[in-house]
Amino acid sequence: MPARPKWMPKSGVLHYGELAHLAAIAVENGIRKVRVTGGEPLVRNELHRFVGQLSRIPGLDDIAMTTNGILLGEQAQALKDAGLKRVTVSLDSLDPESYRKLTRRDELTRTLAGIAAAEAAGLPVKINIVVMRGINDEQLPTLADWGRRTGRRVRFIEFMPLEGDRIWNRSLLVPGEEIVRRITDHFPLLPEAPREFAATEREYRYADGQGAFGVIASVTRAFCGDCDRIRITADGGLRTCLFADSATDLRGPLRQGASDSELARLMGQAVAGKKAGHLIGLPDFRPPALAMNSIGG
Ligand code: SF4
Repeated sequence: MPARPKWMPKSGVLHYGELAHLAAIAVENGIRKVRVTGGEPLVRNELHRFVGQLSRIPGLDDIAMTTNGILLGEQAQALKDAGLKRVTVSLDSLDPESYRKLTRRDELTRTLAGIAAAEAAGLPVKINIVVMRGINDEQLPTLADWGRRTGRRVRFIEFMPLEGDRIWNRSLLVPGEEIVRRITDHFPLLPEAPREFAATEREYRYADGQGAFGVIASVTRAFCGDCDRIRITADGGLRTCLFADSATDLRGPLRQGASDSELARLMGQAVAGKKAGHLIGLPDFRPPALAMNSIGG
């Protein structure tokens, strides 16, 4: 999140019924998994009602959520009961001071409690850690060790130019290969497992059998070639790539009474025009106008 986000007017934000309607059309046309993201999804009122609407869509196999975890403790059980299947929590540091600097909030304790509550409710939890040189990369062994000790799956993610404060530059990027090497210095690993089709993460298992971690090398080992994700923003823009420079407006047609087949046609057209991938590191690269908190992580 940028320090001073620009909030969109409430009237522009799709309500749960509208979002579930678009999800149902997407599922009818081949989508099998839906992830509820943000910004921060748990700040929306009674999110479990939306998850309940999604869970009633025939043919939808998986409903996941990505959250900062702060409000998870009070909502985990209701979300699980409504049909949520799994949770990813963004947690870039286990050090209270570093967490506070990164998030501008003093909520590490609440986030950890949220993770525990989700697990107690029976939700599998993964932890996403964006690694930034000079900011949290010194904590790599501590974070890996925490994953090993708690049995939690941590995933280390290369820093991408999608943050609201526009601080990204190549020197802040810790390449996936370096992340693996620095963890190997502390905990020997088995050889890298082959990446599954359309998966974002590569898996590394500890040689002593104590679990595994993932690396999402979105910059240095991009997986755009088999990326099958599309995103619908809070205001109904369909984006076929995190780095797309435009979106297909679905809110307008939806509110003007477009038929399901027309909305499906618009979605199909957007997907057919999906670009080959991001251009990070190439001369033509321009960061997208929208930051990750507006696109959906
Ligand atoms: S950069 Fe775009 S195409 Fe590549 S993996 Fe991310 S969303 Fe998919």
